[in-house]
Amino acid sequence: MARPNQARLDLGALRHNLSVARKLAPNSKVLAVVKANGYGHGAVIIARQLEALADALAVASIEEAVELRDAGISAPILLLEGVFEAEELGTAAQLGFWITIDNEWQLRWLEEAVLPEPVHCWLKVDTGMHRLGIAPGRAQEFYQRLKATDNALDDLVIYTHFASADDLQSSQTKEQLELFDALCKPLPAQLSAANSSGLLAWPDACYDWVRPGYMLYGNSPLIEAHPNATALQPVMTLTSAVISLRDVPAGEAVGYGASWIARRPSRIATVTIGYGDGYPRLAANDTPVLINGQRASLAGRVSMDMITVDVTDLPDVHVGDEVVLWGRGLPMAEIARHAGTIGYELTTRMPARTPRVVIIA
Ligand SMILES: *Cc1c(COP(=O)(O)O)cnc(C)c1O
Repeated sequence: MARPNQARLDLGALRHNLSVARKLAPNSKVLAVVKANGYGHGAVIIARQLEALADALAVASIEEAVELRDAGISAPILLLEGVFEAEELGTAAQLGFWITIDNEWQLRWLEEAVLPEPVHCWLKVDTGMHRLGIAPGRAQEFYQRLKATDNALDDLVIYTHFASADDLQSSQTKEQLELFDALCKPLPAQLSAANSSGLLAWPDACYDWVRPGYMLYGNSPLIEAHPNATALQPVMTLTSAVISLRDVPAGEAVGYGASWIARRPSRIATVTIGYGDGYPRLAANDTPVLINGQRASLAGRVSMDMITVDVTDLPDVHVGDEVVLWGRGLPMAEIARHAGTIGYELTTRMPARTPRVVIIA
């Protein structure tokens, strides 16, 4: 058999998750975020599904947006970090990209550009994350200047980004919302604040546009379980197979650095997936995997191309048996926790080496 690894994609789940977003924010337009190669799922595959269902798409850079246009995606695409140099403005205007304005130089480039068409602008305000966006005290000035330049279309969107919306115990989201409301009050425009966490857990944050990314791929970004997240269905299921089996006596170690030692006579299955295939190297001993639908756990360090799994308690494991690393039946968040990371990183780091295979179209 060929090397069996697949990142299986359930596009029905993707469409379903978008409908979950719509239901939770019935009065908002949906900007579906497909940056970083569609969170590692494959930007073109994902955008083809979402462009008819969302009101617009969003990516991080003009290169990502051009990739989608080249693939025939005709939906509006917002550049979440705007342009990185003045020359990109002409391409943005030509290809119908929407741009973020989040600092003085981006605004000056826009004011001074000669463009074939005016562009649709999203003005980003920093209400507390302190990563990107103009200071609240300058919102009025930027707003006036965007209204004044012929290079910006008149229907401005003002937006901000949450730092802690995944944490319902944090007071920061409320504080950001209050500041956002106050500074937008005198500035007639469409408004946007919610990422997936905002959309799922902060109904006051939905405004005119919601900007879900992660939730569309079927996993909850929220720290704690939440009823609004239970309907989400994972889009990606990462699978591999058992390629070798052996019995290891008690006291023997398994894998690099001998980090796992058999406490009893053990049966070890070797699975042909490793950190070179997108499985996190920091996944610890005891991280769960599914073999034939049953849970077993990692025994020993993750290698580049393989992992080793303690299957002593599984009755019937054979070479060739299917292994699920995350996805349907095994929540990605659980694997992320064992690896000291978040699901966002697991999917976005999926390398080209692991084929994306659409199993449900
Ligand atoms: C990435 C991003 C989003 C989507 O965030 P999720 O947590 O994936 O929903 C929304 N807005 C901005 C500005 C982003 O950069």
